[in-house]
Amino acid sequence: MPPKIDWSKLNFQPDYDNRAWWDATKESKLLVRSCNKCGNNWWPPNVIGCANCAEIEDTGWVESKGAGVIHSFIVVAQPITAAFMEAAPYIPAIIELDDVNNIDGNPVRLQGVMDEGDDQVGINARVEMYFERVSEDGKQVPRWRLAAQQPDNVWKFPGP
Ligand SMILES: [Zn+2]
Repeated sequence: MPPKIDWSKLNFQPDYDNRAWWDATKESKLLVRSCNKCGNNWWPPNVIGCANCAEIEDTGWVESKGAGVIHSFIVVAQPITAAFMEAAPYIPAIIELDDVNNIDGNPVRLQGVMDEGDDQVGINARVEMYFERVSEDGKQVPRWRLAAQQPDNVWKFPGP
């Protein structure tokens, strides 16, 4: 059972810098920022400047299929926003995308809330994205769950 997040308690107001990203979610597309000048890609989408070459105008987007592996994760027991009150304890994971790299060759990393709990999630676990509708006009937020097939090298540090 995915953690219940009360999206009505969050205010999604796209602005000039992230409107294209939100519009893409309405078509179930996960976009990642891309620099047209040097080819660097990065997350999050509201950061408009390229960290590699400092370009801020000639940037665009690349689409990710929304699959990858967990680089690391934490367990949130005390949410700081009302939207996540019923979700706790929940797991925000740092996810390395399979299909979008930074210019240095490392995968683009983003954050996603996992459907599963601490008993199932681990480092190197394969994950996949799906969208959850969060507004009347069709905006969607990426959600993440474990993939059906997992590698043998999933691990984590023992808990306290
Ligand atoms: Zn650049």
